[in-house]
Order: sequence, then C-alpha cells, then structure tokens
Amino acid sequence: KLDALPNDPELLKILKNNNVDIAIQNDDINLMIINYIFTYIVFSLIILTGLSILFNRNSIGGMPNLLDNSKNINLNTNNNITTSFDDVIGIDNAKIELEEVVQFLKESDRFTELGARIPRGVILEGPPGTGKTLLARAVAGEAQVPFFSVSGSEFIEMFVGTGASRVRTLFETAKELAPCIIFIDEIDAIGRQRGGTGSPNNDERDQTLNQLLTEMDGFDGNAGVIVIAATNRADILDSALLRPGRFDRRVYVDIPNLKGRKDILELYSKNKPLDDNIDLDLISRRTPGFSGADLANLMNEAAILTARNNLTTIGNNEISNALDRITLGAQKKNSVISLQKKELVAYHEAGHAIVGALTPNYDTVTKITIAPRGNAGGLTLFAPDEDRLESGLYTKDYLKSIISVALGGRIAEEIIFGEEEITTGASSDLERVSSIARQMITEFGMSDKIGNVFINSNDYISLDTRAIIDAEINSLVNSCYLYSKNLLLNNIDLLHELAKLLIEKETITYEEFNNLINN
Ligand code: ADP
Ligand code: MG
Ligand code: ZN
Repeated sequence: KLDALPNDPELLKILKNNNVDIAIQNDDINLMIINYIFTYIVFSLIILTGLSILFNRNSIGGMPNLLDNSKNINLNTNNNITTSFDDVIGIDNAKIELEEVVQFLKESDRFTELGARIPRGVILEGPPGTGKTLLARAVAGEAQVPFFSVSGSEFIEMFVGTGASRVRTLFETAKELAPCIIFIDEIDAIGRQRGGTGSPNNDERDQTLNQLLTEMDGFDGNAGVIVIAATNRADILDSALLRPGRFDRRVYVDIPNLKGRKDILELYSKNKPLDDNIDLDLISRRTPGFSGADLANLMNEAAILTARNNLTTIGNNEISNALDRITLGAQKKNSVISLQKKELVAYHEAGHAIVGALTPNYDTVTKITIAPRGNAGGLTLFAPDEDRLESGLYTKDYLKSIISVALGGRIAEEIIFGEEEITTGASSDLERVSSIARQMITEFGMSDKIGNVFINSNDYISLDTRAIIDAEINSLVNSCYLYSKNLLLNNIDLLHELAKLLIEKETITYEEFNNLINN
C-alpha cells in the first residue's frame, strides 16, 4: 500500500520508486484524443457557423463579405490570372504607369541588355475600393506571370512570431518562379513608421518589415520579381520602404470621375437585365465620390432587391433603394416615431433643404427623408458639383453657404417651435459649422483680422490672438445664421408646405422637391 492520493502528481514517481510495473492503456488515450478532436471540431464548427452568419448578414447590408476566399490565410499563389486591363476601368493614368511594369515582366531581357534597372517595387496608393487589388491582378494577367498575394494584416495577426520567416519563404518561392509578382495588400499594417506607439504588435511588425527590406535589397532587380504593394495610407509608411531600390514607384489610384463611374456602371450592368428607362448617366451623376467597389455593390444590391420584389428586370426604383441602402444604411424597419418627433424632424430637414435650394451656387438637393436610418433621424442629401469636387477648391462664398445650410435645420426648429423647444438633434450640424468656421479663419486666411496665416492647432497661440479668433468665428457664424433665418422667414410658406409633405410621404425625391420649389 502506497502513500499516495488519487491524481497525485507525484504518483508516477512514487510508483517507480516502489518498482511497480506501469502499463499505459492505449484505449483510454485514444478515447481522450478522439474526445479532444471531437470537442475541437464541434467547437470550431459552432464558431465558424456563427461567424459566417454574422458576415453574411453584413454582406447584405453592403459590407464586404469577410469570409471571401480571396482572403485566404495562406500565401495565395495563382499561376493563371485571367484578369486583364480591360477589367479595370476609369483609372487610366494608373493603367498607363503599370503598362510599363507589364513590359518589364514580359521582356526583361530587352531592358537589362540596355543596362536599364528594372524597378523592384511599386506602391499603389488610393482610397479603398478603387481597384488596387484588381489592378495588381491585371498586371499579372497581362504579363502572364504567377501572382503571389498576401496581406499585411495577415502577417501581423495570423503569422504571429513567424512574420519574418514568412517573408523569407515568400521571396524564396517567388524567385524560383520568376518572372512573377508578389502582391502585398495593406502594406501599412507592416510598413508603418517605426518607433512610437508602443503597441504589443510593434516588435512583430518591425521584424517583418526589416525582413521585407532585407529581401528587397537582397535580390537583383533583374531577377524578375516585382513587388506590388497597396495602401490607402501612403503617408504613414516608413520612409525606409520608399527609398530608391525598394518601393520607388508610386502610382496613385483615384476615385473615378463622372465618365469613369458611368463606364464602371456599364461594366457591372452587362450581365444584368435592366429596364429600358434606366439612365446610367443619371446614376453616375448621383454617385459622386463612389469607388468602383461601391458602384459594383450598387448594381449587385439593386439585383438583389429586384429578385426579392419578384421582378424580372432591374428598375429605377430598385436602383434608388439600393443607393439609399448604401449611402444611408438600411432603413430602420419597426421603429415607431411619435407624430411630435416626426414634425420636428420634418421642419429640421425642410430647413436644410430650403436654405440649400435657395442659396445661389450651392449643391443640388437630391433627396430629403425623415425615415430614420442608421444614426440619423432624418437626412437631406445634396449632390456636390462635379467640377468643384474634382478640383477640391472651395470659395469663401461656398464655405459660408455650407455653414448656412447646416444651420438651416436648427433655425427652422427655432422659428416653428420657439427657442425653448429646440432639441439636441442639431449637434452634428453644429459640429460641422464650428469646424468649417474655424478652418476658414485659422487655416484658409479668410478673415481680415487674422490675415493670411495658417495656425496649427498645436501651435502656441497667445490669449489675445485666441480671443480674436473666437470673435471672428462668432461673427462669421452669426452672419450665416442671420442670412439663413431671413431666408426661411421670407419663405415660411414653403417651409410649412415642405414639412407637411415630408410628414405625409417621409421621403421626397429630387423631382418632387423641384416641383414644390418651382411652384
Ligand atoms: P482596392 O484594392 O482598391 O480596395 P479592389 O480592387 O479590391 O479595391 O476592388 C474591389 C472590387 O470592386 C473589384 O473586385 C471590382 O469588382 C470592383 N472595382 C473596384 N474598382 C474598379 C475599377 N476601377 N474598375 C472595375 N471594377 C472595379
Ligand atoms: Mg484591395
Ligand atoms: Zn440637421
């Protein structure tokens, strides 16, 4: 009889010391392993199912499907890319620059014989959804070379502790298959400026980045491996990455313009049955700022809505609803609003819309709604002027109009319900007003008293100057306030009519609004 307890961790030692024969029964262990695997599988399945339900739900609401297999965890190799430059639309400048890369890949000999140094790295920089990934694939497709793709965030999140060695393997494999393309998506995840934030991921990132730099320096540019990286934040990239011999080419991939949007819409309508009266030109006019991905998504949403409405062709109605879905978020279905609140929101939105419509040279009202969506109680949508949007230059007059229109909602509440009844509903309008007014005074040189200076918010500002700035902001906002208030008081009948119509219909289209204004 031994001096031990059941499950005593010392049991094995005690048994050995007492020369007891020990045999381990395999059955139990197998059972344990099976049990373990089973639990693990069931558990993973539950989690996976949960995740896919979650992501699929989101993808209906316009979010990308995160379980998309183009985002495989492993390094993606593809030897047979069929994407071509014809699939990429509206970003001609970027295409022209990459045409050259295709030439390098196809006929590297011709260039090296002339002593030309072939670039090793190209950075595609631009807003999300503009076609950077698509473009990189098209380069591989045009040159008929293998395409390795991996994303920066995968290095950081999934390859913890192995990021650097993954980079090494990636380049080794690529060199064997050269000529080829290595595509690193979201390079900012590994290529951020080093030092500073002290996040726990920093070490991992630095090591991965260092390895990437070493690899890029190590291979002869003429080895035929070209690294294409994509980011929407090129400004935060470590300068070491952008040095000659590394990513020394930067290609800007921009949001498509009016013509580009129309062409993209055409591409994504090709395989879809559209009503005869659908005007893609009009849709592209109503979608300034949309990326290629947004437009593809728009046509897809419209097709989904059409199927759900049991129709056979996509109509203006479905496109319009899909547009709302994407820009405003899905309509809150069963939220009950009191009549009182409805009235308040209606006057508020009518205030924005009327000031906007009656202010010369301001953007066009495209839609007014008091149906609650996302975070907003109501919304008035404007289509910005295409030229103004593209140039990015705004006159003082236009900025004042933005302030006046933003104040219009609150002022309408005030006129109709009295100053005591104004609500918190205008806080985001007021935030906008303050920030634009401040910028006009301190950054754009639009105040005589402050003059043509740029005052950084971190700069030291004397108390005197600060007082002048505040006074200037006040006087600017006040003059816009008076302008809007007068405008609304002089058009009070229109304000009542529009609010009434909004309460009745909840959403008013561009055409309905124009009818009202012009009568
Ligand atoms: P990014 O990499 O810039 O975020 P993607 O290349 O992933 O954008 O674009 C996502 C999808 O949107 C593409 O697969 C394509 O369907 C569509 N798309 C985006 N930009 C364009 C474009 N310029 N031409 C055609 N389709 C586009
Ligand atoms: Mg991408
Ligand atoms: Zn408002």
